[in-house]
Formats: sequence, structure tokens, C-alpha cells
Amino acid sequence: MRKLTLLAAAMLTTSISAPAFADGHLRITDEPVELTVHLHNKRYSYDENWPVEQAARELTGVHLKGATFGTNTPSSQEAHNLMLASGDIPHIVGGDKIKDMVNEYGPQGAFVPLNDLIEEHAPNLKAFFDKYPEKMAAVSSFDGNLYYIPYLPDGKYGRAYWMRQDWLDTLGLEQPQNVDELYDVLTAFRNDDPNGNGVQDEIPFFARQWPEVLRLLTFWDGRSSGSDTYHDFHVVDGQIKHGYAIDSYKTGIENIAKWYAEGLIDPEVFTRGSSAREFLLSENLGGMTHDWFASTSGYNISLKDKVPGFDFAVIAPPASISGKRVAEHRRIPVKPDGWAISHTNPDPVTTIKYFDFYFTEEGRRLANFGIEGEQYEMVDGQPIFTDEFKAKGPINSSLYQVGSQVQRGYFQDFNYEIQWTNPSALRGIELYDAGDYLIDQFLGVAFNEEEQAVYDKKWSSISTYMQEKQQAWILGSADINAEWDDYQATLEKMGYSDVIEAMQSAYDRQYGG
Ligand code: CA
Repeated sequence: MRKLTLLAAAMLTTSISAPAFADGHLRITDEPVELTVHLHNKRYSYDENWPVEQAARELTGVHLKGATFGTNTPSSQEAHNLMLASGDIPHIVGGDKIKDMVNEYGPQGAFVPLNDLIEEHAPNLKAFFDKYPEKMAAVSSFDGNLYYIPYLPDGKYGRAYWMRQDWLDTLGLEQPQNVDELYDVLTAFRNDDPNGNGVQDEIPFFARQWPEVLRLLTFWDGRSSGSDTYHDFHVVDGQIKHGYAIDSYKTGIENIAKWYAEGLIDPEVFTRGSSAREFLLSENLGGMTHDWFASTSGYNISLKDKVPGFDFAVIAPPASISGKRVAEHRRIPVKPDGWAISHTNPDPVTTIKYFDFYFTEEGRRLANFGIEGEQYEMVDGQPIFTDEFKAKGPINSSLYQVGSQVQRGYFQDFNYEIQWTNPSALRGIELYDAGDYLIDQFLGVAFNEEEQAVYDKKWSSISTYMQEKQQAWILGSADINAEWDDYQATLEKMGYSDVIEAMQSAYDRQYGG
């Protein structure tokens, strides 16, 4: 009922204001307003010459002057520290990973709470957060206030299971439907020479980032992470848990260690690093991995000539021992990136209206696609990148250079990405969509001081201990079955339950548990 009323109100506003202000309906201020902005990312920092910025300035009357700290460091954290230490915080603070900073210093007065400003002056932001209250809860501080407008990725899918379909065909095998069939396929990849060179040189399962090997835990009903950050907590029915302390972990690690010992998992999985995918695929050695839809699909094009018959296909997640098919990784719906209003800002009302502009249809298109006639043309009411623009190279980097897809607070439009995603990835996304394999994710918590103190004191050493044991067990230098009871007792002694309690209390406050 409430949503319907809001929608009606939003439509009413549009129909009244559009004719009244004809070509200036996005204008925020008659007299131009200048505000300073810090917006840092490892690849770029704010540039008032970005065509997108110039267009926004033209449409709204608000001119953001670049005042980014640390433009010569790739570390946004370092840039934030420089800015905070200077005592001269720009009017708007944005870019990479600002969430923890604004949620810690906002309640102390360094950043302006946005809730009332949105309610009174930002109809598009209000409509967005009314529609997605869980996204607002996920980025609010422990005092219940919102201190930044986040960058909100669109599209649900991140990584998928990829397997050499041409190897399956060569060996006369079907795609594995469950963990037992997966074991048989990987064993055949190891034994039966699918690359046909007469040498047993195949690496059945590999990963660019070694923690991807932990996704295999889900085949034994375990978990490796609840978010798009490795080794993170997860939530089951409102209860915070950690995948490396639950019972199914023992069975999972025991089996991963067995697969590793049998040569089904890359012996160099912990050390091979980010070139693993490029190397093992282009040398016709790798059989299966868990990696991103879009970028992995590109090998079907780039290796077409080098590896005859090369066909890397997305397969559905094989079912676990209890029959569950799980895609544990997905895109996070709210990023710790975005922008905030600092206490030095002379005009928070104009600023929130400016933030709101990027949630209008025109502003969102500008933030996602760039400038009409330059980067895209409208075709049947949709912005479509021009061939000239696509020919310039990777779309992401080209868009950063004009000020699109940069980490201001905005809602991404997945259509921008679909236009340059390979058909094999799009087919994979359809497969995962049809199977409904995604599971709920943990969007993080904002601690109060007391909880933060417990977490800071205990978690880092517990996490280090967990990962040390994990590697030793997988590599076979220790046996999880022999050590499981000791392991659990040690976690307890190190304060595992205290950390879970702090997480749970923050989680309950934030998500109304
Ligand atoms: Ca071979």
C-alpha cells in the first residue's frame, strides 16, 4: 500500500514538474553553486573535466571542484587518512571504500546524517530506499543513520563453474550433476589424456584466486563465505556463523584434501596466482575452474585458434551430498563505495539534491552510459553503445575516462554490461537464473564501540589461525580428523564465541533480528 502511494506520488511529481520546467526540470539551483569533492579510486580520482561532470553541471547548476587527497597513491585508505589528518575535509567525500570511515566518524560529527535530507529533499533516493529498505539497512551506521549514498551494482551473478566441454566430449562424458559425478569427471580428466598429447599433464581443477578452491566446501554442505569477500561470515535463519567452525567443514576439508592428494586439484593452487587461468587454458592444461562469467567467457574467443576445439562451458553447480545445488558467490548489491556530505559542507540541501539527480532517469543514464551521441545512441528508447566507442577497447576503462561507472553514489544498470558480454556467458547466466542457485548473502554489520573493540581484539588472530590450519589440512601436512576437537577448543579459547556474539548483536540491531 505504502509503495503504491509513493509510486503515485512520484508519477504525479513528474507529470507536474516536467511541463512546468520544460528543458530545465533537473536544475537544482538558479545561481551556480560550487562544492569541493574528494573522490578517490585506485585507477582514477575526481576530474571536473570528465564529460559526465560537465553535463551534470549544465543540467543541475552544481559544480563540483576536485579536491581529492592522495591522487598519487593507489590506496584509497591512505588517501582517506591523508584527508582526515589534514583537518580540511572537502564538502563531499567519495570513492572507494568509504563505508567504514563514514560509519565510524559520522556519529562523531564528521559527516552529515542523510535520512532527513533524503526524506525532505530527495524524492528519487527516497523512492529507491523505500523500494529496497534492506540496502539502506546494510549501509547504515550503528546509530541507525545513513552517512553515505552507496554505489549499487546491478546484476546478480558473479562467478560460475566452468568446465572444458570439448574434453568431456573427447572422453565421451556428460556434465557432472552431483559431487560424485564431479569426482569421476575430474579423475577422468587426470587419467585419460583429454588434451591428447600422450602425457598426463592435465590440471583437473584450478583457480586464479586460491580461496576459490574453498567453494568446493559447498559440495559437502559447507560454506566458504557469506559475501563477495573471502573467508567472511554467513547467515543462516538470522544466525551469524562462520564456515570454518561449523560441523560440515570437517567433511568438506577432509574431501578437498583427498582430491588434492589425488591430483584432482592444482598442486600449485596456493601459489600459482592470478595468471593461472590465462596459463592453464592457453596451454590446454586446465579442465575446470570457478571464475567470473564475463571475463572467463572471453577465452572462447581469444583461444579459438590457439587451442583447436576449445569450448569452456558454464555448468550448473553439481549437487551436494544432500542434493543442494548452490552458487555461493554473487555480486554484492551495495558497495562500501559512494559519497557522503562532510561537516564542512555549507549547503547540505543542495548537495542531497545533487546526489538525488543521479537517481533520476537522466542522471542514472549519465552515470552508466556517458553522453548521448558520444558513447551511446538511443535505440528504441535504450542507450546503446556506438560501434566506434566499443572499438576503443575495454568498455570499463573507456567509461572511467569520461566519468561514467565511477564510484559516486549511483545505481548501476546491468544493461551497460550485457552489451559487451560474450554469448557463452549470457547462456550461463540464463542457466543459473533458471536453476535459482543463488543463496542469501551477508551484507556486513556496523559495530558500536563495544562490539568493535571485541572484534578488533580477537578476530584477526582467530582468522589467521583458521587459515593456517586450513592450508595444512588441504596440503596434507596435518589431518583434520585427528585435530578437529583441539581446533574447536582453540577457537573457543581465542574468543570465537565472543566475536560471534558481537557480530550477532550488531546484526540484530541492524537488520531487526
Ligand atoms: Ca595430456
